Amino acid sequence: MEKQSLLSLFSSNPDKYYKVSLFDEKGFKRQNCKLCGKFFWSINDKVACPEHENYSFIDDPPTSKRLDFVNTWIELSSFFRKNDHEVIQRYPVVCRWREDLYFTIASIVDFQRVMNGKIVFEIPKNPLVVPQMCLRFNDIENVGLTGRHYTSFCMIGQTCNADAPGGYWKDRCIELDHALLKEVLGIQSEEITFVEDVWMGAGAFGNSLEYYVRGLELGNAVFTEFEGDEHNYRTLDNRIIDMGAGLERMSWITLGTPTSYDATFGPVIKKLKDIIGIDIDSNPEFLSQYFRVFSEKYSNYHYDVRLLKANIAKEMGVSYEALEKTILPFETLSVIADHTRTLLFAISDGSLPSNVGGGYNLRMILRRTLALLARFDWNINLEDIMDLHIDQLKPMYPELYEHKNDVRTIIQIESGRYSSSKVRMYSIAKSMLTTKKSPNVEDLIRMYESDGITPDFLLETGVIEKIPPDFYLKLAELHTSHESKRVPVVETITGLKPTRLLYYENPSIREFDARILRIVKGKYMILDQTAFYPRGGGQEPDFGYIEGIKITDVVKQNDIVLHKLDGSSKDHFPEDKIVHGIVDNERRLAITKNHSATHILNSAARNSLGSWVWQNSAFKEEHYARLDITHHSALTIEEIKQIEKTANEVVQRNLPILINVFERSDAEKRYTFRIYQGGAVPSNNVRIVNIDGWDVEACGGTHVNKTGEIGLIKILKTERIQDGVVRLEYVAGNNALKYVQSQESQLLHIAQSLGSSKEKVVDSFDKITADNELMKRNIRILVNKFSDNMTKIVSQKATKSSSGLKIYVTYDDEIGDDYYIALGEKSIDNDPFLVYVALVQDQERIKVIVFVGVESRKVIKASKIAKEISLKLGGTGGGGTEKFAQGGGTDKSKVQECLNNLENLLTSILDSSEKNG
Ligand SMILES: [Zn+2]
Ligand SMILES: [Zn+2]
Repeated sequence: MEKQSLLSLFSSNPDKYYKVSLFDEKGFKRQNCKLCGKFFWSINDKVACPEHENYSFIDDPPTSKRLDFVNTWIELSSFFRKNDHEVIQRYPVVCRWREDLYFTIASIVDFQRVMNGKIVFEIPKNPLVVPQMCLRFNDIENVGLTGRHYTSFCMIGQTCNADAPGGYWKDRCIELDHALLKEVLGIQSEEITFVEDVWMGAGAFGNSLEYYVRGLELGNAVFTEFEGDEHNYRTLDNRIIDMGAGLERMSWITLGTPTSYDATFGPVIKKLKDIIGIDIDSNPEFLSQYFRVFSEKYSNYHYDVRLLKANIAKEMGVSYEALEKTILPFETLSVIADHTRTLLFAISDGSLPSNVGGGYNLRMILRRTLALLARFDWNINLEDIMDLHIDQLKPMYPELYEHKNDVRTIIQIESGRYSSSKVRMYSIAKSMLTTKKSPNVEDLIRMYESDGITPDFLLETGVIEKIPPDFYLKLAELHTSHESKRVPVVETITGLKPTRLLYYENPSIREFDARILRIVKGKYMILDQTAFYPRGGGQEPDFGYIEGIKITDVVKQNDIVLHKLDGSSKDHFPEDKIVHGIVDNERRLAITKNHSATHILNSAARNSLGSWVWQNSAFKEEHYARLDITHHSALTIEEIKQIEKTANEVVQRNLPILINVFERSDAEKRYTFRIYQGGAVPSNNVRIVNIDGWDVEACGGTHVNKTGEIGLIKILKTERIQDGVVRLEYVAGNNALKYVQSQESQLLHIAQSLGSSKEKVVDSFDKITADNELMKRNIRILVNKFSDNMTKIVSQKATKSSSGLKIYVTYDDEIGDDYYIALGEKSIDNDPFLVYVALVQDQERIKVIVFVGVESRKVIKASKIAKEISLKLGGTGGGGTEKFAQGGGTDKSKVQECLNNLENLLTSILDSSEKNG
């Protein structure tokens, strides 16, 4: 569907699609832009649409009020409240309720849920207004430069369902928006222009009216009215109004400051200027003039801001350098203010900077900010800048204060990582400076991806002179959306009713009768009802028997459960036959305990570590379970113990686990988006598993009735499996007991081998280790004492090969390698021409020890010899230096051959190394 063809469809009938009652009342006339052909509505006659105007409100605001960012919201929200709108709190900027987005990119996203690939709207109050913070990373390089671009901004969402109680449609919407501009901000109607446009997405579309004042787009009212395409469409049952207005711009137009950053970050930028000690307000007219011209010409030069700046400098009668000197610190402060605010919201809402997923863009802007601070030598912590934002935004977003300490922790860890990687970054920059290589955009992206080197750092170190304008865009494009998860499909099944799920109706049912509806592919049985839990939500399926035939897998496809019959069965099951099923009780119980343990551990980890902990994924089977959580570092022993202790306290408190189904919007309201630990739920009804007073999650799995039934939760292992994700492996219930018992048996075995007891095993072990070290030391002393004699013998026994090498080779299956290593080292000191090879029996393995004297090293390397011999012995190769190397293999039968043919082997190595050059 083409935007242009939709626009012509709507434009061909403007009275039907665009004209609202306000236009007639106030005398707004439809006009055609002489420059771009767009249609627009305004009271005064105009040649062009507002997209070609400059920002004449700078220094001359057309409003009667002067409102900073927070006060603009206070005025706006009270206007909408007076006009029967419910003012709701913002949703998280981390978009947990949609699989296809990392971040909330527009206010309407709050109310969109995806079901069967289609967007459905869930609007909690009708009509409503929300001050939604939105994150977007496609304009990073424009932030600071244009005066109006952001990585995070507040979109005022005026939203309603026109066809539900309380709803309204176009006339009322535009009447309200006009009144907002006129009555709240005090803008004259003559100043306002409405531009015709269209909107489309996810199978729905509609027309829209963008409203402008003095060249600045303040809002866009979208009327989502149709589904289908331009040739074949129908009116939606529920038409949606989605008016989005940038709060930053609303405040800006009332203040008329040079950029919207002054209005948005006012107190933050002011404080930063004080701390840093720079004075960039000494020439306010200069800034205003610059940004006015910039706004007018930007659309023609967006591909090269440097060129635009050069032209503006000429126009203003100053040199490029003089212009840059005034503008650059201002731009940089704006970037820092923007990036820190974005990080503040994202981390507060539970996202972590990392190398993967949505965290990628966060780390990118964080490192950019640190590099900028370093480049200008501004000595201020990111955490302190964030505190300034928190203070400023307190009346609007008091929740930011709650996460203040968590945000600090994350920022400090990330800043620390950045400075420790700087040493390496400097050495890379230095080598680039000496080789005079100038990297292109692709090189820069590779350098950022593999070494974390930002172009700002390269600018700081003088490797590059400017950052390519498309660098951040290209980088962000690589990391904008999720990969979709796919479920394997057995076969498309049609014409059957959903399977009745007995395991939900009665969690303790293990035996049941059911009617066969169909057998698919000869081995997947579909019944009218089942007590078998199918694989889902990270929980492995039930096993058991149907009519004595083993069930080895159970899967669910849409609403149908399929039971996989054991392959060896040849029995024939006719349709409609009644069969008897038995679920393996022991397996179900073990999996169920592991699943409930997973929920308990998830909250235990969050309570112990910090609010950024979310479930990344989970897996629960009979003998094992794992939970991957979002966390910045590997866990310490203390942290693991703390999590385990907390989890077991929850077990001991014997809390009831309550399972209820809620309407999705109700569940979100009651329990917040924390319920989406396992991802978004694609259905209207959400099954909520509530461990009373401890953890609430949307979950379709099986659970115990009370936490006490779990008995014990034992963490087996934890591991940082990727940047920002830590894996916990654990067992619960009987499996936990079995694990502890097997650990004890192993301990007992060790104790007996040491001739000790369980209680004294640590002492005994320490003593043995000490004895062992002492023995090694004694061998070294012995070798040293008798070394003169022994090295002489080695030297004498060595034979001169045809290639001129002096070779000593020995095999021993009694004395360990310590002796031969000490002897080898001594021997080559004594005889610089010596090639010393010892094969030592080390249990099932033959160990290879090679030393090469300083003269022979010129032609042959110890590492090469160790490798070749290891390969002969069936090993995978050896390692070491030219002087000393080790290796080995397990093929004992080859030892004699190695001893006899060592000379030939060395000759062949010499030959091949000569050939290789
Ligand atoms: Zn135009
Ligand atoms: Zn679960």
